[in-house]
Amino acid sequence: MTIEAKSAKTFQVETDATATFWHNAADNTLPPPDMMGAYMRNRPVSAGCVPGRKAWIIGSGVAGLAAAFYMIRDGGMAGEDITILDAMHIEGGSLDGAGNPEDGYIIRGGREMNWNYDNLWDMFQDVQALELPEGYSVLDEYRLVNDNDPNFSKARLMHKQGQIRDFSKLGLSKPQQWELIRLMLRRKEDLDDVTIKQYFSAGFLETNFWFLWRSMFAFENWQSLLEMKLYMHRFLDAIDGLTDLSALVFPKYNQYDSFVRPLVNHLKSRGVKVQFATRAYDLDMAVNGDVRTVTAIRAKVDGVDTTIPVAPDDVVYALTGSMTEGTAYGDMDNAPVLERGRHDPGDESDWALWKNLAKKSPIFGKPEKFYGDVDGSMWESVTLTCRPSPLVDKLKELAVNDPYSGKTVTGGIITFTDSNWVMSFTCNRQPHFPDQPSDVLVIWVYALLMDKEGNFVKKPMPACTGREILAELCYHLGIEDQLDEVVKNTKARLALMPYITAMFMPRAAGDRPHVVPAGCANLALERDRA
Ligand SMILES: Cc1cc2nc3c(=O)[nH]c(=O)nc-3n(C[C@H](O)[C@H](O)[C@H](O)COP(=O)(O)OP(=O)(O)OC[C@H]3O[C@@H](n4cnc5c(N)ncnc54)[C@H](O)[C@@H]3O)c2cc1C
Repeated sequence: MTIEAKSAKTFQVETDATATFWHNAADNTLPPPDMMGAYMRNRPVSAGCVPGRKAWIIGSGVAGLAAAFYMIRDGGMAGEDITILDAMHIEGGSLDGAGNPEDGYIIRGGREMNWNYDNLWDMFQDVQALELPEGYSVLDEYRLVNDNDPNFSKARLMHKQGQIRDFSKLGLSKPQQWELIRLMLRRKEDLDDVTIKQYFSAGFLETNFWFLWRSMFAFENWQSLLEMKLYMHRFLDAIDGLTDLSALVFPKYNQYDSFVRPLVNHLKSRGVKVQFATRAYDLDMAVNGDVRTVTAIRAKVDGVDTTIPVAPDDVVYALTGSMTEGTAYGDMDNAPVLERGRHDPGDESDWALWKNLAKKSPIFGKPEKFYGDVDGSMWESVTLTCRPSPLVDKLKELAVNDPYSGKTVTGGIITFTDSNWVMSFTCNRQPHFPDQPSDVLVIWVYALLMDKEGNFVKKPMPACTGREILAELCYHLGIEDQLDEVVKNTKARLALMPYITAMFMPRAAGDRPHVVPAGCANLALERDRA
């Protein structure tokens, strides 16, 4: 029997769970748009038009790597026909993890995940795990780790210099619960440019729920209510385990070793090429009526202007900015120095590509809504490489297992609710890096408010050295009198990220381009953050 793909039908390429109320009818017999269950695991029958075509993917973060994965698994494309371009010299983008015990480790991002990362698990069930026998996937490894070592926290909220605050209740009154439920029922179109603090009452923004939610997802009160609503829909099931974080699952190691390395192995073994030191800054397009076809990628390769030709049948996936672009680094003695403009990232930035696309047509959205206010989108994280000290002793008190046991330690972030910076810290399963010595622990710290003086250090966090941030942390843990001993045994590496919450900045319909902008024949835009 021959199966022929029907080419006459135009497929809807981008589903939108909140644009309308989803329902089944004669003209819609598909499952709900956000469902990634077994029914969605069909392999589309190839229309026979793949051989000879090439895919150009800009960005080797998880979005770009996933695009390559699906082009091979579901699109039937040969790996050798796929090239990924990246401005950096390593794959993974924001999913990073680097360093060593001497200089200190660094992870810009912590990692919280849940069972409903449907697309991620769909992909990783088909990617070989690096430390399991042939045939076992990254998902198999993840389940093995988490089923045997469940995540939970016994100190999710703290205050008053080292005391655990009661976090057993969300603390929402009936009217405050209604504020949430009304938001869930609001139409997406009604929320253009509305901020969180414009919608919620002042009392709501002081509840346990809001401390738990905002610190978990890094929402600022001045950011998009629409994004907050979408996260509510996305993570509603996590509410049950929100207080003690028992709704979360964590990888064995940092995100680079747990996800990026196996996925890159998978792709490279199938012939996918990655070209580093290549920053794309524009796309040439042939315009024919309403149809746009990319004909070339303009890029700086090792700083040299280069044109990469794109054939009419080739496809291009481009990333619209990155949350870790322009990261400024610091250490124990040096505060980070931002190199990006506060309202314009400049032409040497990854944002230049989207900026130049947006100049061509409104179908490419308004990138300035996302990069244009660094004071509203930035925050800082700090990775601590710790030898035994009073900090580790305090950690043992707050941990659900011995930090050196290889099992869950803090069980997710611990947030200081009376911290002027809204500071949090976490210690994930150790070792966090495969080569980490057995007497070293890696701790991750971050804070949300970048313009307030600390409670102990009278400076805003971005003006502080690692030593000063460590002092602020020790103050909130009630061990500042032992600071010298802590400093002697701890290394801090700082990462100030100007666009880390760019995707949460207030926005209206059309500011974000569609994944396939109207009329684009061979271009899809990847978007940072699921
Ligand atoms: C501090 C922090 C905490 C986080 N916490 C969580 C969490 O708990 N749970 C969760 O699910 N997610 C979390 N995330 C988000 C998650 O890491 C990102 O959403 C995801 O990694 C983004 O992937 P991406 O591929 O879209 O972009 P990125 O990973 O940012 O990758 C972008 C890549 O593309 C390259 N690039 C960009 N533009 C160009 C260009 N024009 N030319 C060439 N190369 C280009 C960059 O060099 C980079 O390598 C967190 C991220 C951070 C940093």
